[in-house]
Amino acid sequence: MDRHELMERALEARKNAYCPYSNFAVGAALLCKDGTVYTGCNIEVAALTGSCAERTAIFQAVAEGRRQFSAIAVAGAPKDQEPDSLCAPCGVCRQVMREFCGPDFEIILTDGQELTAITLAGLLPMAFGPDNLEGGG
Ligand code: ZN
Repeated sequence: MDRHELMERALEARKNAYCPYSNFAVGAALLCKDGTVYTGCNIEVAALTGSCAERTAIFQAVAEGRRQFSAIAVAGAPKDQEPDSLCAPCGVCRQVMREFCGPDFEIILTDGQELTAITLAGLLPMAFGPDNLEGGG
């Protein structure tokens, strides 16, 4: 699966976003090293918490026994618009990626025209991770 195909999956997942409070819809598609793809969307609740699209996809994959990931595509924009600027993962999602992914894990973003890819090492430099603690990873 190439970057464009993965982004198409993210855009499709974005249609399921439940975001009545922010009205900002995000979709993500996570590519596992075995080729499996998990998708996610942001899900908000009235207590003003919830999950980002990236974490929805990663947690679903982990819950189904997968922990080896290659890349994630992420697309976000106001609910009634198509993405036209990069939607970078939030700090919490970056840390969750750091838990399960190596420095070469690729984050793929779209501005609606072109794809931009950055490694996790670039997105979260000098990260604290499971290797900093015994028993992690
Ligand atoms: Zn996030």
